[in-house]
Amino acid sequence: MKRIVIIGFGSAGYAAFTAARKTDPKAAITVIDPKARDLMHPCGLPYALEGRADPARLEQDVHLDKAGVIRIRARATRIDADAKRIITDAGDTEGGVPYDAAIICTGSAPVLPPVPGIERLRNRGLYTLATMDDCNRIMERIEGASDCLIIGAGAIGLECAVALRARGRAVHLAEMRDQVLPGVIDADLAAPVAEHLTLRGIAFHLGAAVGEVLGEDAFAGARIGDSRITASLCIAATGFAPHTELARESGIECGPRGIVVDDSLRTALPDVYAAGDCIVAWSVIDKKPVGAKLATSAYKQGTVAGANAAGGAMTYAGTAGAFVTVLGDLEIAGAGYTTEAARAAGYEPVSGKISAPVLPDYIPDGHAITVKILADRATGRLLGAQAVGPAGAAARINVASAAIEFGKTLDDLERVELAYCPAVSEVHDPLLRAADFARRRMPKR
Ligand SMILES: Cc1cc2nc3c(=O)[nH]c(=O)nc-3n(C[C@H](O)[C@H](O)[C@H](O)COP(=O)(O)OP(=O)(O)OC[C@H]3O[C@@H](n4cnc5c(N)ncnc54)[C@H](O)[C@@H]3O)c2cc1C
Repeated sequence: MKRIVIIGFGSAGYAAFTAARKTDPKAAITVIDPKARDLMHPCGLPYALEGRADPARLEQDVHLDKAGVIRIRARATRIDADAKRIITDAGDTEGGVPYDAAIICTGSAPVLPPVPGIERLRNRGLYTLATMDDCNRIMERIEGASDCLIIGAGAIGLECAVALRARGRAVHLAEMRDQVLPGVIDADLAAPVAEHLTLRGIAFHLGAAVGEVLGEDAFAGARIGDSRITASLCIAATGFAPHTELARESGIECGPRGIVVDDSLRTALPDVYAAGDCIVAWSVIDKKPVGAKLATSAYKQGTVAGANAAGGAMTYAGTAGAFVTVLGDLEIAGAGYTTEAARAAGYEPVSGKISAPVLPDYIPDGHAITVKILADRATGRLLGAQAVGPAGAAARINVASAAIEFGKTLDDLERVELAYCPAVSEVHDPLLRAADFARRRMPKR
């Protein structure tokens, strides 16, 4: 009976478990993770702060014991590849947990911005948001905080800003780049998002890095560019670094972006695989490394690693980086490269953009959506798609993401027939109209 050990049980670990089980139902599976409960859903944390999600339901047990899985509540500290054992910090596994195949799914941890003295204020008014403990600490602090600062205008930062506004707090948001959602949508789509949120009371400081944090024993404010703001709660949403300590300690090659794996998600250590936020992921478009850390990517990678660890033969093609965030009454989604990222990857992108009603004008309350499509000028291959609107952004981006994933062109996308009923859509959808506009900008052949 093959012994498979999964180290870390988040999105990647869970998917690895289900894929390994499916591939080899007789395999003996062990899960090592220090969490008290089996699973925790980090993506729900900002919505718990907002009051849209019940925090108590973000943690979950999936009864691994009933599925015949050995669950070890511990942190893996080293993989002894010669002895084929995993060493943990739990006394009862002294000597190590034996394995025939192991999968590292240790995820990532938030990083604080490089501001002098910031570390001393961690959990004293200044927080990151990645665990239930973080969420609980922030909830406690919210009670006495009238003014708040968010650092970072990525999806998590914006979701936190909306959450604190929903709780009636004054919210400042500082972002060193000059747009919101940098790296995920283009500046022309980001501008109306910032305007929308400004109207809802969020004070943006764009193009302004936090230079100093104020307060001796507890966070009291910050200097942002030339201004000083007073606040008693700060959430730093400034990115994540992969958990690679275990891999490095075990002699596995890692780069700054994570554990290096091949397209079967094998590490350099025999019979050891890795998946999720802890690996260096790559773009499905051209295999260039990308920094996207998403639950969907982790899940897909976990499936490949789990199947292969159990004797399967799957490959991971890469990620299209499909994402969506909901900020109050606005949905923002994207997939593939932004214009800036496409250029950095060596493409000359053409774009098509449209802001159009989602429903025919004879249906009242039809809202508009903005959709932008990017394609490679040389080949017409789709490079990216972005959408912003009160609803329906993710639905359109999911179609575009599938097309990007399978290497399709503008012409291919325009051929797609999308479901139509006047109550939910137009007969010629804005997604296809944006593709049409982009195609018209392509050089004549
Ligand atoms: C606030 C927030 C909101 C997010 N929103 C979204 C979203 O809307 N959409 C989206 O796609 N993504 C979102 N993400 C990102 C998404 O949560 C991650 O990409 C995803 O959780 C990565 O899955 P993972 O399995 O690689 O890592 P994780 O889910 O982080 O799981 C890693 C597990 O490994 C365990 N572990 C770590 N080290 C060890 C060790 N040495 N030994 C044993 N166990 C170990 C940890 O306890 C943890 O359980 C969000 C993240 C956060 C923090």
